[in-house]
Amino acid sequence: MEITMQTLERDLNDTRGYYESGKTKEESWRESQLKGLRRFLLEKQVDIMNALMHDLGKHQLEAFRDEIGTLIKTVNLALKSLKDWMSGKKAALPQLALLTSAEIVPEPLGLVLIISSWNFPIGISLEPLIGAVAAGNAAVLKPSELSPACSSLLASSLPTYLDDKAIKVIQGGPQETQQLLEQRWDKIFFTGSARVGRIVMSSAVKHLTPVTLELGGKCPAVVDSLSSSWDKEVTVKRIIVGKYGTCAGQACITIDYVLVEKGYCLKLVELMKVWIKKMFGQNPRKSKTIAKIVNKHHFSRLKNLLADKQVKGSVVYGGSMDEQNLFIEPTILVDPPLEAAIMSEEIFGPLLPIITVEKIEDSIKFINARPKPLALYVFTKNHTLQRRMISETSSGSVTINDAVLQYAADTIPFGGVGESGFGMYHGKFSFDTFSHQKAIVRRSFLTDFWYRYPPWTLNKLQL
Ligand code: NAD
Repeated sequence: MEITMQTLERDLNDTRGYYESGKTKEESWRESQLKGLRRFLLEKQVDIMNALMHDLGKHQLEAFRDEIGTLIKTVNLALKSLKDWMSGKKAALPQLALLTSAEIVPEPLGLVLIISSWNFPIGISLEPLIGAVAAGNAAVLKPSELSPACSSLLASSLPTYLDDKAIKVIQGGPQETQQLLEQRWDKIFFTGSARVGRIVMSSAVKHLTPVTLELGGKCPAVVDSLSSSWDKEVTVKRIIVGKYGTCAGQACITIDYVLVEKGYCLKLVELMKVWIKKMFGQNPRKSKTIAKIVNKHHFSRLKNLLADKQVKGSVVYGGSMDEQNLFIEPTILVDPPLEAAIMSEEIFGPLLPIITVEKIEDSIKFINARPKPLALYVFTKNHTLQRRMISETSSGSVTINDAVLQYAADTIPFGGVGESGFGMYHGKFSFDTFSHQKAIVRRSFLTDFWYRYPPWTLNKLQL
C-alpha cells in the first residue's frame, strides 16, 4: 500500500472505525487472523526464504531457525492459549469487602502501530503482530525500507491472508514513518535504534500514546576460564554461532564483545580460530553460511570501525572484506582501545573485540560503567560468579552458558532496560503488551454499612 498524506488519515479512520465496530475483539476473529498468519508462514515459506536471501544473504537454516520456525511456534502458542489469555482472572480482595469479587479483564488497546527493523525483517515484524491480533487490536505494520524484498513480500502477501480492514502493511522509510507517527495511535511498538526510539517517544507525547521500545546496544559475553576441554569448546562454539552465525552479528542480542581474563585470552582466541574454520571453512566467503552486510552504508560503517589507526593493530584474526558482495569475514580483535568507536558504538556486524581483565569479577565493574545492555551472557560453572553477574549488573536478560537462544523462549519476557529499551513481549507477554488490564469489581446489594457514608463523625473512625 502506497502512503500519501491525503489517503493516510482516511485509511486510518476507516481502520479505527472497523476496530470500533467490535469485530476484532471477537475470539473467532482473533483465531482466524492467527491461523491466517500461520498459513502465510507455511505457504510462503520459500518466498520468505528467498526474500531473506535477497535482503541479507541469510541461509535457509537461519531463516527458519530465527524467523519462520520461531514465528510458527509463537503463533501455535497463541492459538493454544488464546481462550485462557482472553479470560478474566479472579483477584483476591481484602476481607472488608464482603460479597464482593474482583477480576482483571484484558481489553485490546485499539489501533496500534508496529515499526520494525531490517535485520530480522519477518520475525521482528510478525512477532509483535501476533501479540497485537491475539489481543484483539487493529494494527498497522511498517517494516524497514532497508530489507525491501521482505517488506514488499509482507505488503503484497499478508493482506491476502488477513483481514485487510483491520491489518495493514505500509512500506516506507524515515519520512513515511514520521507521517505515521503524526497520527493518533493507541500503542506504538518500535524495534530499532535508540536514536529513532527517541523520535518515536517524542511523537508519542502528543497523544500520550503508550510505547514499547525494543532497542539494541552492546551485549557483553563474560567468559570464565573453564577447566574441561569440552566446556571450553562448547563455549567457543556457542559464541561463534551467537555472533557470526546470527545474521553475521547484525542482531540486537548478538555478542558485541567478550570479557576474559588476560591469562585465558590467548587460549580462547586459538580455540575460536579452530572452530571458525570448522564451521565456515578455510574461505568463509564461499561457505554461503554467513549472512551479508545489509547495505553499502553499513558495510562502510563497519569498515571504518576497523580502519581506525588505533584499532587496526588489535585485529588477531580475519578482517578481510569484499565490498562488492557486502561480505565481511569473521573477525577477532584483542584489546582495541576502549575509547575507539568499536568499543563505544553498537557493532552490529561480524567484528568481535575481546577485552581482557585482570580478574573475571572485574567484568562487573566494566559492564556497570556502560549503558545497560539488552542481553548479558556469562560462560562459567562458578555459581558465585553466576549469582554476582545476575544480582550486581542490570540488563534485559542474562543467559548463562549460551547466547541468543533466549530469543526463542516464549515463557520469559524479551525486552530491554535503560538504553536498551523498555516494555517486553514474546508469548503471553506480547498479548499483555497489546492489552489494557481492566480492573473489575463486582458488589452485591445485600450487605451495607452505615459508617461508610457521611456525615463523618469521629466514632466512625474508631470502628
Ligand atoms: P533504525 O532505528 O534505523 O530503524 C528502525 C525503523 O525506524 C525502520 O522501520 C525505519 O524505517 C524507521 N526509521 C529510521 N529512521 C527514522 C527516522 N528518522 N524517523 C522515523 N523513523 C525512522 O534501526 P535499524 O537500523 O532498522 O535496526 C538496527 C537497530 O535495531 C539496532 O540498534 C538493533 O540493536 C536494534 N534492534 C533491536 C531489536 C530488539 O528486539 N530489541 C531487534 C532488532 C534490532
